Amino acid sequence: MLDHIILPDSELAPFCEGSDLASKAHALLEQQKSSWELLRNGYESLNTVETRTFDFEGFAVKLQFNPGRLTSSSAKVDPKSIRERKCFLCPANLPAKQRGIFWEDEYLILCNPYPIFPEHFTISHRDHTPQRIVDTFDTLLDMSKSLQKRYTVFYNGPKCGASAPDHLHFQAGDKHFMPIDTEYEGVVGRMGTPIIERGSIRVYSVEGYLRRFIAFESDDAAALADAFRILYRAFSEVASGGDEPMMNILSFCDSEGWRVVIFPRGKHRPSFFFAEGGRRILLSPASVDLGGVCITPLEKDFQKITRKDIIEMFEEVSLPASPFEHLRKALRRELASTQ
Ligand SMILES: [Zn+2]
Repeated sequence: MLDHIILPDSELAPFCEGSDLASKAHALLEQQKSSWELLRNGYESLNTVETRTFDFEGFAVKLQFNPGRLTSSSAKVDPKSIRERKCFLCPANLPAKQRGIFWEDEYLILCNPYPIFPEHFTISHRDHTPQRIVDTFDTLLDMSKSLQKRYTVFYNGPKCGASAPDHLHFQAGDKHFMPIDTEYEGVVGRMGTPIIERGSIRVYSVEGYLRRFIAFESDDAAALADAFRILYRAFSEVASGGDEPMMNILSFCDSEGWRVVIFPRGKHRPSFFFAEGGRRILLSPASVDLGGVCITPLEKDFQKITRKDIIEMFEEVSLPASPFEHLRKALRRELASTQ
């Protein structure tokens, strides 16, 4: 059923410089630029995007004016709108020229035709199954390991940034494009509070980076999965509703192991998104924005947004201090008892 979508090795080979998956994904992108006009246009317009940089103490937040992201930033993700649209990640609905490569026979690596990164992929499950992390966190780790040569892999929760909340998917983009990839060690060193630093895992909480996050570092996938289970359970206790608690996750892997950054969310969209008239700013933050590249599809927003707007937005969409403290305590208590 997927035969017509999977790009055969023979067509990948002219673009491929290595045998690892990251090299193959890179080759897929080159092949698609040569054969799929929509994608080629998307990358051509990426060459002309404008960027502003806001400097803070020891870190920076970038603002990218990217008109190609209008559909995604303003996507209606309520259940009714989702039911009534054709799922754009289902293999049967992909554009005719789109091709992909398999990840473990279960996921399709696809090129995102509306890129933010110099190389930007969507990695979607072959079946139409809901976006959820509780039983796919291991997959996120495995994916970032197999793509570590070039890419960071990330997850947007169904209620905080995934524009297809009904179809399980991850995304991947160039390492070190998001400021957090480079700032991470300095930020954790200066602002991080150790939750546990023994055994096979180190866990930190970070405040003072405008958006709160929890970080896991380990070369042991099982230890990371255990820590994530604890976090997920504790977060479910303080999150409203019975659904998946809102979070965005970045997984960066190298020869020393993984560092996983989890941004627990309090809100999907900041209040300026819903404001009337001149106060309105179309910026709907997800993993990449929290990683330090905020995307504005409208030029007027790109021009007018201020440092204060950035600070307020991150504070508004992050999990507030008190439930964040609950996560910290649960992790400390339960990780200490299992080490
Ligand atoms: Zn689907």
